[in-house]
Amino acid sequence: MTTSSPPEPAASAPAAHDAAAQGGRRKGRALVIGGSLGGLFAANLLLARGWDVRVYERAADDLATRGAGIGTHHELFNVMREIGITIDETIGVAVNRRMCLARDGSLVYETTLPQTMSAWARIYRPLKALLPDRCYRPGTALTGLQEHTDRVVATFSDGSRDEADLLIGADGIRSTVRAQWLPASVPVYAGYIAWRGVLEESAMPPALHAQLMPNYSFGLPEGEMMLAYPVPGRGEDVRPGHRGYNFVWYRPTDQHTTLRDLCTDAGGHCHGESIAPPLIRPELISAIRATAREVLAPQIAQVVELTTQPFFQAIYDLESSCVGRGRVALLGDAAFVARPHIGAGVSKAALDAIDLANGLDAAGGDIPAALAAYDVRRRRFGARVVERSRWVGGYIQYHNTPRAQWPGNIMPFSPEHVLREIGAPLAQIRELHAG
Ligand SMILES: Cc1cc2nc3c(=O)[nH]c(=O)nc-3n(C[C@H](O)[C@H](O)[C@H](O)COP(=O)(O)OP(=O)(O)OC[C@H]3O[C@@H](n4cnc5c(N)ncnc54)[C@H](O)[C@@H]3O)c2cc1C
Repeated sequence: MTTSSPPEPAASAPAAHDAAAQGGRRKGRALVIGGSLGGLFAANLLLARGWDVRVYERAADDLATRGAGIGTHHELFNVMREIGITIDETIGVAVNRRMCLARDGSLVYETTLPQTMSAWARIYRPLKALLPDRCYRPGTALTGLQEHTDRVVATFSDGSRDEADLLIGADGIRSTVRAQWLPASVPVYAGYIAWRGVLEESAMPPALHAQLMPNYSFGLPEGEMMLAYPVPGRGEDVRPGHRGYNFVWYRPTDQHTTLRDLCTDAGGHCHGESIAPPLIRPELISAIRATAREVLAPQIAQVVELTTQPFFQAIYDLESSCVGRGRVALLGDAAFVARPHIGAGVSKAALDAIDLANGLDAAGGDIPAALAAYDVRRRRFGARVVERSRWVGGYIQYHNTPRAQWPGNIMPFSPEHVLREIGAPLAQIRELHAG
């Protein structure tokens, strides 16, 4: 392709989609709290099934500017297709070969595992484009909810209120819905963080480009895990020369001292357990680059060196004690958060949403019955995904703990295991599907 701008993501609404929203065959009214991926999956699926849907999103700005590279699964694409989104070669960058590099840059192990690496915004944009504007209220945060037998009433930051037959909490790991509904279900820090960043392909020196760009690269310094892979570039561009090379580097980090220090800006203000990337102190960026030179293969260290704005995220586990009851449901990261090792966050949000929409259809208008069944199915799946990701990340979590105190169920930290398990196809993870 020789055009100067990337092709627009294709999104064509199924015929029923908009007609249903006009009220042609209403099933009920649903409030969706959170207009990110989980909320948009749910809203589009319910709208197509005849629900009257309103999405409330706290952020006023365009969410497409956030996010970095993500791994994908067939299950994610299937839900996107059902919504009416075309999945073609613009969805991401295909990568087949995985290689693990030693500290001296030599190849330790290689294997083949085809995967499509996409970008958060490449999934978000077509989902958002399909939702009629009248269904989406940006800049409006949920502040309270009241559940009654026949309806649920929500109040918002602008003083407004709305009521509906169903309320869906798709408001992420720090969910307000969950905090009000299940105050004891809170995220638990996993003991490590992920430094992340995307290097533009055009900024890669030719030798580095030739070695890394076609491959999914791994580095396994003592107790740490580095992954780096090609992703769509700016504007979700997948054309050669316009892509990016994304890295995710997991490092054990003490929560009360080091993490707080990392989240403290140049003015001495600590932002909690996360900080906006531009506020990360320059000396911390210099320090992570120096550590990269010390412990990683030179090729991968160069990616960290050349990335303009590395940032980090703390890693958490979250298991909600309930995800559906009465007239309230949770989905996506509001319900369960697994460590990113199996790369299932976005796919799980899509699977939660389609399970909820299908379950509501099957229950023929009995919302509490549909949510009770949803709760059983999605809590089982969510718990299994969390458990699996804990197993994969256990070695990083317990690295600074005496071996005698390690739990028995930790994945062996060999290149063979790591390269096979990271982002593995969900269908191949037996534990997710057992009875
Ligand atoms: C290091 C790292 C790597 C990852 N890699 C992958 C990967 O490779 N593949 C993958 O699938 N996933 C990955 N994930 C996870 C993925 O990003 C999420 O799991 C996924 O986006 C789920 O989205 P969600 O809509 O449930 O929540 P979120 O995307 O967190 O959205 C919640 C939304 O709710 C809004 N909100 C919050 N409170 C309120 C309120 N009170 N009122 C109204 N709105 C509100 C927020 O503004 C936000 O827009 C990764 C995560 C991390 C940390």
